[in-house]
Amino acid sequence: MGMQVGMSTWHHELHPTGSTVEMHGNIRQLVCPACFSVEPLTRQAINTMKEQKAIQCPSCAADELRFKVMLYDDDQGDCITPEHVFETLEEDLQVADCVLWVGISFEQSASVEYFRRVRQVLASQGRLAACPQAIINPAEEACFNIVSSVCNVDDLQLLDVRTTHAGL
Ligand SMILES: [Zn+2]
Repeated sequence: MGMQVGMSTWHHELHPTGSTVEMHGNIRQLVCPACFSVEPLTRQAINTMKEQKAIQCPSCAADELRFKVMLYDDDQGDCITPEHVFETLEEDLQVADCVLWVGISFEQSASVEYFRRVRQVLASQGRLAACPQAIINPAEEACFNIVSSVCNVDDLQLLDVRTTHAGL
């Protein structure tokens, strides 16, 4: 049910130690904002939601299971993106050859913050030059949004790569 992110070699249940991290959660799971317990989304839970009733957490009995999806200005975001996500990010950046930002518009402040955080971590590791970041997005807004949100634009090396397809 629902969309699933991740490479075909990874599955959140079959290979839970895989390297795909869902920064903003998913729509396959529910989470308890009180105890951070994660539950699979079941038919029964969907029916309970349709009746506009609260879903009780089986771990702590709080009446507030919610979709494990980050919303705008989500004041319960801690239960969606736990802190260990950023520890994983820092570990990955120690050995990464490059960072690809694919299809992200950087229109939301959170994604810009992730971009900044990656730069900060790479800088603290002395790896800014060793690990370039590439924004892959055919829309010009993505690059514009990053350039206009970074303090030291001179630190950025922008390489605009485009192909033109005659006749399209
Ligand atoms: Zn709970």
